[in-house]
Amino acid sequence: MKIILATQNQGKVRELRELLVDEEIEVLSLLDIPDWEDVVENGVTFPDNAALKARVAVRRTGLIALADDSGLEVDALDGAPGVYSARYAGEPKDDERNNDKLLHLLETIPEDKRTARFRCALVIATPFGEEYLTEGAVEGRILTLRRGSDGFGYDPVFFIPEFARTMAELTLTEKNTVSHRAQAFRKVIPILRDLKDKGNLLQGEF
Ligand code: IMP
Repeated sequence: MKIILATQNQGKVRELRELLVDEEIEVLSLLDIPDWEDVVENGVTFPDNAALKARVAVRRTGLIALADDSGLEVDALDGAPGVYSARYAGEPKDDERNNDKLLHLLETIPEDKRTARFRCALVIATPFGEEYLTEGAVEGRILTLRRGSDGFGYDPVFFIPEFARTMAELTLTEKNTVSHRAQAFRKVIPILRDLKDKGNLLQGEF
């Protein structure tokens, strides 16, 4: 079975391919689709945005399409930056400026009120019009300074009490076991297995 992950991020594609290595499922990405036009992500929630991308990808390719959307929710900021995480400090997308803005807005907020989480929503859309949603979240706290040099985005300011380290101080393997994205990705395995079985049955019928 062939599926498409609606992303141009090779890191995400690699992560999904690794998870599906024993499943006889081939994972294509947007890099395999000529002239792909970026989908306007104007949803108000992570699942909305993931669904927008998955629907375009299934329409465009006829393949089962997966799309994820993720970001950071900070409680003291009423859930911001949320779906605006990538461009929190404006265009063009800039991780350093995003972190500067976040730290500045939280300057007066005490440690116990700096709770936050990364969230990921993943939507699977099938050519038969079915949709499935999986989600993942990882809880943490926003530090007052950056720590660590791995990862991307808000990783250097996101402290995970369970590890006593920031996300940017985790190895990639550690991050891939705890991250919001890894959790949402892992949950697609049984759904894809079912879809693959169904697909085999359908092919048998025709
Ligand atoms: P995307 O939906 O995965 O493209 O993520 C949108 C934005 O959320 C990114 O540009 C980052 O600012 C933030 N983000 C999502 N996942 C992570 C993560 O694992 N670490 C740090 N920042 C993240």
